[in-house]
Amino acid sequence: QGPPPVTRYDLNKVTVTADPIKNQEHILILTPMARFYQEYWDNLLRLSYPHELITLGFILPKTKEGNQATAALQQQIQKIQNHGAEKDRFKSIIILRQDFDPAVVSQDESERHKLGNQKARREVMAKARNSLLFTTLGPSTSWVLWLDADIVESPPTLIQDLASHDKPVIVANCYQKYYDPETKKMAERPYDFNSWQDSETALKLAEQMGPDDILLEGYAELATYRTLMAYMSNPGSPKDLAVPLDGVGSTALLVKADVHRDGAMFPAFSFYHLIESEGFAKMAKRLGWQPYGLPNYKVYHYNE
Ligand code: GDP
Ligand code: MN
Repeated sequence: QGPPPVTRYDLNKVTVTADPIKNQEHILILTPMARFYQEYWDNLLRLSYPHELITLGFILPKTKEGNQATAALQQQIQKIQNHGAEKDRFKSIIILRQDFDPAVVSQDESERHKLGNQKARREVMAKARNSLLFTTLGPSTSWVLWLDADIVESPPTLIQDLASHDKPVIVANCYQKYYDPETKKMAERPYDFNSWQDSETALKLAEQMGPDDILLEGYAELATYRTLMAYMSNPGSPKDLAVPLDGVGSTALLVKADVHRDGAMFPAFSFYHLIESEGFAKMAKRLGWQPYGLPNYKVYHYNE
């Protein structure tokens, strides 16, 4: 008995098209997860892209909270993969536990978003995303969908809708629903400010920074005057309007696998004074892949 046969994959035959269902294209959905939200899982199950073409990958920190989230996630996976209807089961599921420490920052929204905590947090997030990506990207993967663990509502056609634009990198607009005590009605507000078009001011600020310094978006202390996709949403313009971007958030981000294969990842260091998903957009662009965003196509973030 000789050695096992060599498996050959011809990457030319892995198509990446605007009609991924027709072409049976494999999707890798990647989620770094600090907390498990049932609403995230239920929304994931509602995705109408054929589940047999979807591989799920998760990475969770080795903290008490991370252990709890892992247990909850595994319980839901069991339910679907072992007892769910055939059509609901995913092709495969991979869970990684982080082999480095999480940033020593509380997971509460107000703490997470303090400017002083951002650099350490985004570094850890970048490493988590890279570990997850480099261990799960396979030879038959056509697309990678980055979907945060606190995205609790999206159109069920999320994958098809984003892919239909046939862009190398494309991001949805991440909003948050909240109760407005003044109108006594539910309302929505922008949540993710990491998707933007650059400004002269931001470029000048970056020029004056030290080599390890990073620019962050959404902080009054750091006025960048970038054009934020969060504020480009307009009911008067078409739902499928796509705008070129220089920075992207990764709450619901579809990437052609070839962009990652070319080497575009999430820098855990200052890359053109950008870090993590914003650095990723820059790296993709430097590799010749222009990122886009959909201002009128919304997904919704959990409200703590
Ligand atoms: P924010 O929405 O910008 O405040 O960022 P989040 O805290 O929601 O982080 C983005 C994503 O990464 C979410 O899916 C989190 O569950 C997840 N996450 C946050 N911190 C960690 C961490 O230390 N390790 C891992 N593996 N995932 C994390
Ligand atoms: Mn979040």
